[in-house]
Amino acid sequence: MKAKAPIRRSLFALALVVAGLSVAAAFAKDSLETFAMKNQADSDINECASGCSLPSHVDLSGESFPVQKTEEEWREQLSEDAFRVTRKHGTERAFTSPLNDNKETGLYRCVGCKTPLFSSTDKFDSGTGWPSFTQPLDSRTLGEARDQSYGMVRTEVHCAVCGAHQGHVFPDGPAPTGLRYCINGVALEFERAESKEDLKEKIEAWYHGGADPH
Ligand SMILES: [Zn+2]
Repeated sequence: MKAKAPIRRSLFALALVVAGLSVAAAFAKDSLETFAMKNQADSDINECASGCSLPSHVDLSGESFPVQKTEEEWREQLSEDAFRVTRKHGTERAFTSPLNDNKETGLYRCVGCKTPLFSSTDKFDSGTGWPSFTQPLDSRTLGEARDQSYGMVRTEVHCAVCGAHQGHVFPDGPAPTGLRYCINGVALEFERAESKEDLKEKIEAWYHGGADPH
C-alpha cells in the first residue's frame, strides 16, 4: 500500500501540469486570435484601398499626373512650406510637423489633391522627426522615383495623382514590410476617424468617387 502514495503524488503532479498547459494553451489561443483579428482589421484597410478600382476621375495609366495645375495655381492653393516641399522637392525641418507625434486614428491625405495616401494603422514612431509609415494605402496612388541627389541613391515617393513630392522610402523599417516611408508632414493633411471602421469608410468614399480632387 505504501508504494501507491508516490504514484498518487505523481498522478496529482501530472494533473497539475495538464491543467497548467490547458490554461496556457487557452491563453495563447486568445492572444493569437486577438492578434489575428487586429492584423485582419489592419490589412482590411489597405486591401480595401488597393482592391478598389480608382475613381473615374483618376486614371493613372497615362504619362502625366491626372491632376494638373499651373505653378501659380499651386502657389495659391498651398502654404509656402507645402509648396516648397511638394512642388519643389524640399524637405521640412525634422520635428516641426505636428503630425510627427500624431497617434490618432485617421487618414493621411495628399495636401495637393486630397487623395488618401497613408493610414494611422501603418504609422510608427521612427524617432527621425518625420511622420513614418510601414506602407502606403495603395501602391497605385504613391509613385516612386530614383533620387540620386546629394551623392546618395534613394527612392523618392510622390502622390501619383497630382505629383506632390512626399518623401523617401528606406529599407530599414519595422515589420510587416521592413520599409520606412519617411514623409514630410506638410505634404499631408490628417483627417481624424472615429474608429477603424470609420477610417475604412472614409477611404472607400474616395475610391467610390465621393471626394473631388480638384
Ligand atoms: Zn496629390
